[in-house]
Amino acid sequence: MIDTITIDGPAGSGKSTIGQGLAKALGFLYFDTGVMYRAVTLAALQRNIDPHDEGAVSALAEGIHIEVNPPAKDDGRQYTVLLGDDDMTWDIRSEPVDDNVSIVSAYPRVRDAMVAQQRRIAARGRVVMVGRDIGTVVIPNADLKIYLDASVEERARRRALELHRRGEQISYDDVLASLRERDRLDSTRAMSPLKPADDAVIVDCTEMDAQDTLEYVLRIVSQRSAAAAAKD
Ligand code: C5P
Repeated sequence: MIDTITIDGPAGSGKSTIGQGLAKALGFLYFDTGVMYRAVTLAALQRNIDPHDEGAVSALAEGIHIEVNPPAKDDGRQYTVLLGDDDMTWDIRSEPVDDNVSIVSAYPRVRDAMVAQQRRIAARGRVVMVGRDIGTVVIPNADLKIYLDASVEERARRRALELHRRGEQISYDDVLASLRERDRLDSTRAMSPLKPADDAVIVDCTEMDAQDTLEYVLRIVSQRSAAAAAKD
């Protein structure tokens, strides 16, 4: 049976919406690994550590306590992120974090520290884990791997809409430029670059809305489960 599902893909492709919907439909835990890299980045900025200072950022990542808990407030959040005792759920979504997270997430010691925690969560099973390297590095033996993609223009359109709804003043062109830069850094880094696993199912949702994409992915899950059951 299907026990672990990975969803990887570029920023803004809808991984969190689809991951959360899928986890809810299956009764699985939803775990968004991007949150961890964002929390390290925010912690560095708060402590006036230069994101380009690899040694200082790596030491911080190795010592930091990040907790991702069920939502503690009904304000549209998918989970509550605690850095130490502080609720940082919305702060990790701010523009300075967006602009620096791909620098921080390229550091090998930062990745090692985060991946170790992610594997512990994945080992419990019944999980939908979302990120960039989940199918390639974190859980290479996952039962189903989805790579969710969409054109950069469509991703920027969706992201700008989401930010405007939250009251943030940022233009479509700035969102597009920031996504392009994040795509470039995430897919060209030496360690665990963004790319589909060889055995991933690639889903392009440029022309599908969230509901259609979720139904499409749920059909893939049903087909895989049926194929696994037939083998037993
Ligand atoms: O998914 P999200 O946009 O929140 O991820 C923020 C950043 O964290 C990504 O742009 C990427 O640099 C990094 N990340 C990563 N590996 C993951 C998840 C996120 O490098 N598994």
